[in-house]
Amino acid sequence: MKSDFSFEIKIVYDDICAQPGFLTGFGFSTLIYNNLSKTHILFDTGTKGDILIHNINKFNVKVSEIKKVIISHNHYDHAGGLKEIYQINHDIEIYVPLRDMKSFIKTYPEAQVQGISEMVEVDKNIFSSGQFGSRFLAEQSLFLKTEKNDLIIISGCAHPGLETFILKGRLMSKKIKAVIGGFHGFSNLTFLEGIEFVGACHCTQKIKEIRQRFPEQFKDICVGNSYLF
Ligand SMILES: [Zn+2]
Ligand SMILES: [Zn+2]
Repeated sequence: MKSDFSFEIKIVYDDICAQPGFLTGFGFSTLIYNNLSKTHILFDTGTKGDILIHNINKFNVKVSEIKKVIISHNHYDHAGGLKEIYQINHDIEIYVPLRDMKSFIKTYPEAQVQGISEMVEVDKNIFSSGQFGSRFLAEQSLFLKTEKNDLIIISGCAHPGLETFILKGRLMSKKIKAVIGGFHGFSNLTFLEGIEFVGACHCTQKIKEIRQRFPEQFKDICVGNSYLF
């Protein structure tokens, strides 16, 4: 039997705005509830653990309930809050780009750290894109495949270019339904055509142009918002 939703995506860290009772801060993080595996998964951790934990708790989720954390890339505004998360939850599985595995193991020697190079399923219907970028900076995005076979892409900063992740996503699903997160310097806006939900936030430099060109699809991403797919 199909359930009414596959994933709930809760915004727990962003720079731009917040619903009453939630806090903003520089960085990005989403808390994903996978209704297919009944698991809470964190994607990125913002800069500060106290802000992150405040926002997670505000959604009535405890850090101890989170099973896995995926770090898109090793910048402080995405990996900074991990310290406090790990302090509370030593059992959490940490997935990082393979390039950064050594540095995470050094910081978290007792933790379960996995380095990702190729695309892999990290939880039921949730995939890492695999690491992209250069030897100086590697990054992974998250691909969520709903029961209807729609794809949701969650992006940290998209330093290797958002189009890289969109192209990879198209190999998985004919329909990319949503892209949420930081788009950084992304400017090939035609890549967003046909995507129903464009949730550009955090470091997206062309946010105004994206909103103007896709007024129907553009969504204001605020901390405290949540979306069902
Ligand atoms: Zn970054
Ligand atoms: Zn960033």
